[in-house]
Amino acid sequence: MNDPRFRLERVQGAPVSNKDILSDIQRAASLAGTTVISQRLYSEFGQFDPTTVSRRFGTWNKAVVAAGLEIANEINIPDERLFENIMRLWEYYGRQPRRAELARPPSRISQGAYRRRFHSWMDALAGFVAYANAQDIRPPSLVEAASGHQVGRDPSLRQRFRVMKRDNFACCACGASPALRPGVSLHVDHVRAWSLGGETTDENLQTLCDACNLGKGNVL
Ligand SMILES: [Zn+2]
Repeated sequence: MNDPRFRLERVQGAPVSNKDILSDIQRAASLAGTTVISQRLYSEFGQFDPTTVSRRFGTWNKAVVAAGLEIANEINIPDERLFENIMRLWEYYGRQPRRAELARPPSRISQGAYRRRFHSWMDALAGFVAYANAQDIRPPSLVEAASGHQVGRDPSLRQRFRVMKRDNFACCACGASPALRPGVSLHVDHVRAWSLGGETTDENLQTLCDACNLGKGNVL
C-alpha cells in the first residue's frame, strides 16, 4: 500500500504493451542519467515491476537490449553496435562526440565498453572513421534489379553517416540541424527519386530535415 509504483499485474482496462515497457526502461535510464540499467536501478526509477518485465521479455537483459540500452557488465558488444552509437552521437551533436558524452543520453553504451574493445576513445573514433569510409556496395534485391537498379535502395548505416557528415549534419534545403535546434531529425534522401531511376550513391543522396523531407514531392 505504501509503494505507489504501478504494477503490471494490477493493470485495469487497456493492457500495457511491450512498447510501453520499453519506453519506460528508456525513461528510467534517462532519469538515472545512465545508459547501463540494472534491475536494481530500474526498480528505483521505473514504473513497472522488474520481475514482471523480465518474465514478459524472457530475461531482464533481453528487455534491456530490446530497449536499445546497454546491459550491465555486457562484454563483447558487436562493433556494429558500438559504431552505431558513435554515429548517433555524431549526428546529435553535429560534430565528433567527446568521451564524456558516452555517459548520457542519447548515448546507449557507456565508455567502459569502448575501453574494453579499443583501449582509448581516440582509437575507438579512428576505428569508427575507418569503418565509415569503407566501401560497401549493397547488391539490389531481385525486385530492385528488375526495375533496373544497380544497388539496393536503402543506404547503409555508414553511407548515411558519410552523406550527413559531407552535408555538415544540416538539412540541405533549409539548414536546420539537431546541433543548433534539438529535436530536429535528419534523413538521408535520394536527390533524383529512386522511382525515377535515382541510385543509392553518395552523389545522389542528400541530408534533409523532417519538415523538408515531408514537404518534398516525389520521394518514393
Ligand atoms: Zn529542412
